[in-house]
Amino acid sequence: MVNTKNLRDAVKKSADKLAKSASKNVDAVKKVTSGKYSNSKNLKDHKHCRECGKMISPSSDSLLCKSQVCIDKFEKDLKVKKQLRLWMIILVIVLILPNILTFLGV
Ligand SMILES: [Zn+2]
Repeated sequence: MVNTKNLRDAVKKSADKLAKSASKNVDAVKKVTSGKYSNSKNLKDHKHCRECGKMISPSSDSLLCKSQVCIDKFEKDLKVKKQLRLWMIILVIVLILPNILTFLGV
């Protein structure tokens, strides 16, 4: 009689322990997943204008704020970048062309 009671108590105790640790694990998992979720949400909410760095609505497709100054600056920058790329291509061709010509034996 006494033995079975002890056994039952022991089983109950270990079951309680198991349940406690399980709920702890669940809490930890919940914390991690909720932290991840809020982090990704924060990243999504953060979008800055490429020119002035002002916060802009994450739903907008534009990389700029609505300021005309930034739009003008961005377009100017784009033109300069395009020109720079063109010059790079010309430079590469000028540098490589003699090598190609000698390689071809022209
Ligand atoms: Zn701006």
